[in-house]
Amino acid sequence: MIRLAELPLQGRTTASVSLTATLSSALSVGSGGSSGSLADKPIVKDAFGRLLIPGSQLKGRLRHECEKLARGLGWAICQSPDPNLMCPKREGIPGRFEREEYRVAGYEGSHCWVCQIFGNPTLPSRLWVDDLVCDLSPEGYEEALRPGVTLNRRRQTAEDQRLYFIETSPATALKFTGSLHLLPDCPSWGKALILAALHHIHALGGSKSAGLGWLTWDPQSLVPLQPTEQDWAQLGQGGWV
Ligand SMILES: [Zn+2]
Repeated sequence: MIRLAELPLQGRTTASVSLTATLSSALSVGSGGSSGSLADKPIVKDAFGRLLIPGSQLKGRLRHECEKLARGLGWAICQSPDPNLMCPKREGIPGRFEREEYRVAGYEGSHCWVCQIFGNPTLPSRLWVDDLVCDLSPEGYEEALRPGVTLNRRRQTAEDQRLYFIETSPATALKFTGSLHLLPDCPSWGKALILAALHHIHALGGSKSAGLGWLTWDPQSLVPLQPTEQDWAQLGQGGWV
């Protein structure tokens, strides 16, 4: 039988890392405009009704954290997500992009280290991120509705007619599992950046300041990402002397 979900991965993955996150608060990963819920912002579920954290959201957060870390190490990193400010097109962006480490065989122009992992308009991504899916069956819990109100920052008062409801998971220690797939051409030091970035992600979804979406990564699931001494050494060469 042909399984669509497995087709693109055959022979193209060097490492699949199974990630597990445990929630320490309720989660709000919403999508506006869905039907079948009383909430203005219902929680996202898969076709089987299981709660999930979209892989696109985790990938976006990972990219953002990797950008911060790589810049902190002294690497010139482009400005996603605006394609005009991203590699290989970066007019007017300060930073030294013309260095040997930014060359990718078979692709024109230079591509910063974050683009070499996450891709840009001309370079395919070398990292795939699956949705993180809750292991609990939908019958095992009930979602909660939380009211919220839009605040007017200037007047520091609640706006009229702006009460809304967010759907959240129950505030129990739900486990979410999914995988990261590193493609064969993903640079080895990419693991080091991704591992460090995961250590900077303590919450996902909306309303983090209201205490929603806080989570911890299972340390065992991070073991396959442990980089080598050489990976760390390469990352450390970002700063220009
Ligand atoms: Zn870039």
